[in-house]
Amino acid sequence: MLKLDFHPAGRHFLQIPGPSPVPDRILRAMSYPTIDHRGPEFGQLGLKVLAGIQQIFKTRHPVIIYPASGTGAWEAALCNTLSAGDQVLMFETGHFASLWQKMAVSLGLKPEFIGLPGIEGWRGGVRADMIQARLEQDSEHQIKAVCVVHNETSTGVTSDIPAVRRAIDAAGHPALLLVDTISGLASADYRHDEWGVDVTISGSQKGLMLPPGISFNALSPKAIEASQRGGLPRSFWAWDEIIEMNKTGYWPYTPNTNLLYGLSEALDMILGEGLDNVFARHQRLAHACRTAVQAWGLPIQCADPSVYSPVLTGVMTPEGVDADQVRKTIYERFDMSLGTGLGKLKGRMFRIGHLGDCNDLTLMATLSGCEMGLQMAGVKLEASGVLAAMDYLAGQHVPLRRE
Ligand SMILES: *Cc1c(COP(=O)(O)O)cnc(C)c1O
Repeated sequence: MLKLDFHPAGRHFLQIPGPSPVPDRILRAMSYPTIDHRGPEFGQLGLKVLAGIQQIFKTRHPVIIYPASGTGAWEAALCNTLSAGDQVLMFETGHFASLWQKMAVSLGLKPEFIGLPGIEGWRGGVRADMIQARLEQDSEHQIKAVCVVHNETSTGVTSDIPAVRRAIDAAGHPALLLVDTISGLASADYRHDEWGVDVTISGSQKGLMLPPGISFNALSPKAIEASQRGGLPRSFWAWDEIIEMNKTGYWPYTPNTNLLYGLSEALDMILGEGLDNVFARHQRLAHACRTAVQAWGLPIQCADPSVYSPVLTGVMTPEGVDADQVRKTIYERFDMSLGTGLGKLKGRMFRIGHLGDCNDLTLMATLSGCEMGLQMAGVKLEASGVLAAMDYLAGQHVPLRRE
């Protein structure tokens, strides 16, 4: 018989870059009774979360909340704004950019996938100069949208979105800008309106510290206009009816009530800590993590320090060491989950998540597990990454925030 033991002693270390650990405070909020989604109380909850999530995206325009995983919100962004056969320009930063490109093909769009060849393209960020050069060639304006991933979760790279906006503007091109920040939102600085993004896609289970199950489209007036003019066949994902009903805090169908309780609590936590403090905490933990990896003498997957991700760090294992074997050892011995190498990177690297409900000691325990696991797998480490990270964290006095 299958033995499912989810509760060994101590707590499981869920250090994958999403789903991230869900704070007890959020789990408790989610255990409130499910209410009538057409009743008077629900409208108040709806209005609260819709207003709160706008603050996280930094937008004054509508944000759609879907009862779906991030993949659904990808599809929603494409099918509301683009029509059959439309050309789109997508940039290959890693596995998630590749999955989104495949989806565009399935939906009958014509994506052009640009990037650097081979594995090198999976070690850096979006090249705005390449996007600008391609758009400048498109004098007929056949390209209807530029699609990029802000935080590429498969590699640990956070791309410069304002640079992509500037590239589109410099080319004088009318294409929409669609950005996936499924794993960046509420962990890395993001500004939907200021950066001139037309649709931002995100999900619940990463920086927002919620379980998987809801996802988002933040819109611009230009995106809404495009959806009114055209789009692909759609019903469930259609923005218009949702925007209309959201004005009073309701949805056209049954929303995910208990996840919305969780979202309400997550918003209180994140806005209570302050977005800038949340971002600074992520940067500090990411820096400590990279300090450890560098002390071990192992390469970081992201080869360009200007685009290091505050959300996760990709660690490359030496030639001949299967990164998935290291992960398996760590899982079995220390009850810790790390992210696997995805797509082209399978077996070559593992990913340490340091997002959401994470503090100095969460990270130190995580790094200890990694260091022990690497040693058990026979990897020769140059020095202790744990000690290096401790030095970094202890040298940077940041008082704990108490309410
Ligand atoms: C997690 C993730 C996705 C996929 O989201 P699902 O919720 O698994 O559908 C897409 N893009 C990025 C960048 C992600 O991190």
